Amino acid sequence: MTMPTIEIAAQAGACYGVERALRMVKEASSLHENTVQTLGPLIHNPQVVQQLEKDGVQVASSVDDATANVVVIRSHGVAPEVVQRAHELGKTMLDATCPYVKKVHHAAKLLEEQGYQVLVVGEAGHPEVEGTRGNAPSALVIGSPEELKAVRLKRKVGVVVQTTQSPANLQAILSCLLGKVEELRVFDTICAATSERQAVAADLSSRVDTMIVIGGRISANTTRLAEICSATCANTHHIETPDELEASWFATSKHIGITAGASTPANQIQAVHTAIVNLCEQL
Ligand code: SF4
Repeated sequence: MTMPTIEIAAQAGACYGVERALRMVKEASSLHENTVQTLGPLIHNPQVVQQLEKDGVQVASSVDDATANVVVIRSHGVAPEVVQRAHELGKTMLDATCPYVKKVHHAAKLLEEQGYQVLVVGEAGHPEVEGTRGNAPSALVIGSPEELKAVRLKRKVGVVVQTTQSPANLQAILSCLLGKVEELRVFDTICAATSERQAVAADLSSRVDTMIVIGGRISANTTRLAEICSATCANTHHIETPDELEASWFATSKHIGITAGASTPANQIQAVHTAIVNLCEQL
């Protein structure tokens, strides 16, 4: 077969916050050999987490369970009580919270201090949202306009948003709030990295006949990318590693697109690209 064109999305893979967290952990682990642990898996990418474990960076489920001296806060951030507890236990904290997530924390705290009823538009139980709630303990988490119906709204309402939420969901919730409260203050804390990757993936998948989406199956943003690509390219496949690729997917391909979730480092994208080239050469 003629070698198909293979196009990697212009914006794909690890975002600024994930790259930064990985860099910080690698630097810390080289300075403090075998004495660094992350509070939960550093990112939603099993292959990266396994590699870190091989390099001596283990995962602790909580500060109380951590045996290492240096404990890393993930890019999702944590509630202030977690930092407080680490200090009580004499741990050194390495804070890899993404600066954009920090902005959400600060906004929620500010709104609560100024007497607003704080609403966090996001997914209840998500680590980032839990960290935000820790900064504004009376905050309520709202996932959809339907959930808002059960809330007894106060006069002054302040809204912050989980960084990975869709602008459409935020707009739908804000539309429901307008007219029901006297004062509404909104911090649009959605991170552009997610929406930009989604827009670029949607464009690419509409132009190709085969689309490969790389990233952890437990990664919400990768799963969302796969859904977006499937909507315009029926031959879309979500994989974690190159060995999941099947030659039959490329049998009639002329133009192949590749994108990757925000937890996928560049070397994993390159490995998949190389594997696709090898498979197509054999067809
Ligand atoms: S998606 Fe945005 S907010 Fe989340 S870690 Fe990446 S850069 Fe930070």
